[in-house]
Amino acid sequence: KSSYRSRLSHEEEVFDKTPNPKFKWSLFFSLLWEDIFYLLGAILAALGAAVVNIQIPLMLGDLTNIVTKFTSDALSGSETFLSEIRKPALKLLTLYGLQGLFTFVYISLLAVVGENLAYRLRKMLFHSLLEQDVEFFDKHKIGKLIDRLTTDVQEFKSSFKMTVSQGLKATVQTLGCVISLYLISPKLTLIMVGVLPIVIIGGTTWGAMLRTLSRDAQEEISKSTAIADEALGNIRTVRSFAMESKENQLYEAQVLKSANTSIRLGYGIGMFQGLANVFLNSLVLGSLFGGGWLISTQELKAGDLISFLVAIQMIERSMAQMSLLLGHVVRGLSAGARVFEFMDSKPLIPLQGGKRIPYHALIGDIHFKDVSFHYPSREQSVLRDFSLKIPGGKLVALVGLSGGGKSTIAVLLERFYDVTAGTVTIDGVDVRELDPAWLRGQAIGFINQEPVLFATSVMENIRYGKPTATDQEVIEAAKLANAHDFITGFPKGYNTVLGERGVTVSGGQKQRIAIARALIKNPSILILDEATSALDAESERIVQEALDKVVKGRTTLVIAHRLSTVRDADLIAVVSKGRIMEIGTHESLRRSKGLYWELIKKQELEEDIESK
Ligand code: ADP
Repeated sequence: KSSYRSRLSHEEEVFDKTPNPKFKWSLFFSLLWEDIFYLLGAILAALGAAVVNIQIPLMLGDLTNIVTKFTSDALSGSETFLSEIRKPALKLLTLYGLQGLFTFVYISLLAVVGENLAYRLRKMLFHSLLEQDVEFFDKHKIGKLIDRLTTDVQEFKSSFKMTVSQGLKATVQTLGCVISLYLISPKLTLIMVGVLPIVIIGGTTWGAMLRTLSRDAQEEISKSTAIADEALGNIRTVRSFAMESKENQLYEAQVLKSANTSIRLGYGIGMFQGLANVFLNSLVLGSLFGGGWLISTQELKAGDLISFLVAIQMIERSMAQMSLLLGHVVRGLSAGARVFEFMDSKPLIPLQGGKRIPYHALIGDIHFKDVSFHYPSREQSVLRDFSLKIPGGKLVALVGLSGGGKSTIAVLLERFYDVTAGTVTIDGVDVRELDPAWLRGQAIGFINQEPVLFATSVMENIRYGKPTATDQEVIEAAKLANAHDFITGFPKGYNTVLGERGVTVSGGQKQRIAIARALIKNPSILILDEATSALDAESERIVQEALDKVVKGRTTLVIAHRLSTVRDADLIAVVSKGRIMEIGTHESLRRSKGLYWELIKKQELEEDIESK
């Protein structure tokens, strides 16, 4: 059991290093400022509703006083009753109407403010997330980031709205009603207010206890979810070790634990509610008793007692709202803090700005000079004093066992990360001085092992490489990538929608669409990251043919898995542990019988075994 727990907590540790971000008030107010008039309108309307609500008990009391006059024999006759009751009744009706109007206004205006706020938060957060450094995404789980855009914004918005409307209303109503109580009968009020501190202290202590219990219960539930998730998500592993009964036991024990905690919470809530009911009802009885006493001594009228009772009820309701609100405020603040955390964080590597080399002047000479590098999320160095020259228009292949640092070399050229020491230059210009938008958007075409296509048409997927491209340019790129024929073979041709609910394409087809997408920018530099390793032999041949065509005239860096595909490379570098161990042509390396030769032997052996 402990192994699960440690595994899960470890994961959290790695990914979420800032579990308690601060709420950024100034950012929040600056966002709110744009809707200040709507907000003020909403606040005024909520205050108006509260003030009207305070009047209602008093009016009810007045009405009651009139009604009770007619219980004695002295006054009678429906006409006198109607004439007496008309004015206060109409006034009360007006108050009800006003109350309805204010409620409509504050809820609507708050909806406007809340939705505008959520819109701006989402827009800014997404914008900011999209420009974060690649290392940021090594550190944060995508799911958690999406949560900030969705549930956290939602929660923040609703607690903000609730705080403004309910909080304001409840506070004003409580204060107003206490004042009314006092005006009606200072004596009775003092008695009631006297018991208040006891209740408040008791209530908050109990409430705090319940909150702790509720948090515990939540935690137990998420633990059991994690176990189920892990077991079902890795069903093949579970099955292959025949661990079903062990997983069952684990899950069952955890679910039972969580049920027990929730039951205890249930007892706590039940007891709390029960006692609260007894107390609240006693309050009514107490008022009736004390009020009755005062009526009997002619100090109070019956209507005043009604006002008193209704006002007490309003206070009760307002205080209940406030106590609920407290939880919302706490949760809203932490949700808001999560939303705000990355909203104004600036990436180290900007998305644009810097030098551009004009297309006709770009030769494509690449030079890695004494490069050292470790990923920001890890201490371990990946490249040490790595140097490599790729002359313009040549094809250099990197080979070697996996983990040697080949892909890292490619991402440094794209400047997904900055080097720790040394330089990477293109035509003698440090990539740190070049405009990243130009570097990635125009200069370099990147085709990786498992290309990602978006759930849109083939046409748009290829155009992703150059948004300004015409249909004709897309088709030309597809032809160059050996993709035109199979695309036109689809019933809807270039308008075929891929991915979710769309057509699924084979690995080789996907790869060729990705090649077309990279080619449409007409990049001077191409990076092929094990571009053919995930394919079967036939698809690999077709993709390879397309690649052979497109590398001509471009500086190309190939990260090769299968050595057979890079025999014709101008240079082959064997990379191991972040260094070049050997470099030369296929022939020269083979003759020197070093690492490259060993790799060839090893791969031939593997292919032999595979084909048998
Ligand atoms: P190759 O392409 O030769 O297989 P890589 O460049 O992918 O090698 O990996 C080199 C080393 O860097 C490995 O130890 C790998 O675990 C580590 N590494 C790769 N990508 C990351 C990353 N995003 N964050 C941290 N470490 C990484």
